[in-house]
Amino acid sequence: MDLTALYQSIILDHNRRPRNFRELADADRRTEGRNPLCGDELTVWVKMSDDRIDDVTFMGSGCAISKASASMMTTAVKGKTRSEATALFERFHDLVTGSVSARVEDPALGQLAAFSGVSRFPMRVKCASLAWHALKAALGGDASAVSTERL
Ligand code: ZN
Repeated sequence: MDLTALYQSIILDHNRRPRNFRELADADRRTEGRNPLCGDELTVWVKMSDDRIDDVTFMGSGCAISKASASMMTTAVKGKTRSEATALFERFHDLVTGSVSARVEDPALGQLAAFSGVSRFPMRVKCASLAWHALKAALGGDASAVSTERL
């Protein structure tokens, strides 16, 4: 199996069986994200324990990229501190926007490397980063909705 096929299968798997796909009853932060260009809509719930992300979940509807990205975001940042999660978002953002500083083999990215192909499709960057923008707003204490068209 080549790398592209492997990445595709990871994304399809997370789209079909999204992880942490539920409402979080005892969340202390909740943010809605919208990507009008594609029609992706999701809600992210976060429960903090001091400075650490104790639990994070999402629900919503949208394309396979947005859903798989949200699913993988929740598994990637659970247990991380606010600054660790923010740093990971920056690396992920570099990856999907094709920034020269991005390295697919960056071990910190893990399975998130599956989104490296997104950088070739500018329309898809917003799909892949929607859940992360919602997370960032939630971590920043901004409970209002985020839209990719205002970022
Ligand atoms: Zn989308």
